[in-house]
Amino acid sequence: MKQQIIIPLEEFPEEGMQLSGELDGSIFDIDCDDVRSIGPVEYRLEAQLYDTELVVRGEIAAPFRLRCMRCLADMEYWVEMDDVSYAIDVKGKLAADVTEEVREDILLELPGYPKCELIGQECEINDKFGDFRLDKDPQPGVNSATPSGNSVWDALDQYPGQ
Ligand SMILES: [Zn+2]
Repeated sequence: MKQQIIIPLEEFPEEGMQLSGELDGSIFDIDCDDVRSIGPVEYRLEAQLYDTELVVRGEIAAPFRLRCMRCLADMEYWVEMDDVSYAIDVKGKLAADVTEEVREDILLELPGYPKCELIGQECEINDKFGDFRLDKDPQPGVNSATPSGNSVWDALDQYPGQ
């Protein structure tokens, strides 16, 4: 699979150039438990040459597997950007490479604190918090301690990363 998006500049068409395809997910060079690239970058771009400046605009998207920082569940997450725009100085060049621009844009768009809600899922840990919230506002005359007598913080300690 393609590792680069190269735009040839020789005999560049006046009306611009359409570029679409897939770029190997290995360009991200990330493969840890928390963030993993699980598929190619899909791109649909349009390039326009203005004198010595190449302007590239379009859509890019890439799938990742992220781990929820709270409950440690894996989730599939798509970074999707519908309006990227790059201006590249191409003076004296025969071709322009926009791979690094695309790569950086997508990496910057990855959430720094992945959690289930990102993909519209309810986090298992949030459910636990929900239960505790009930305890904070007990009905009159009801003992507010949890049945086991454990505090909220004891429960939190069971979840690494919290
Ligand atoms: Zn979660």
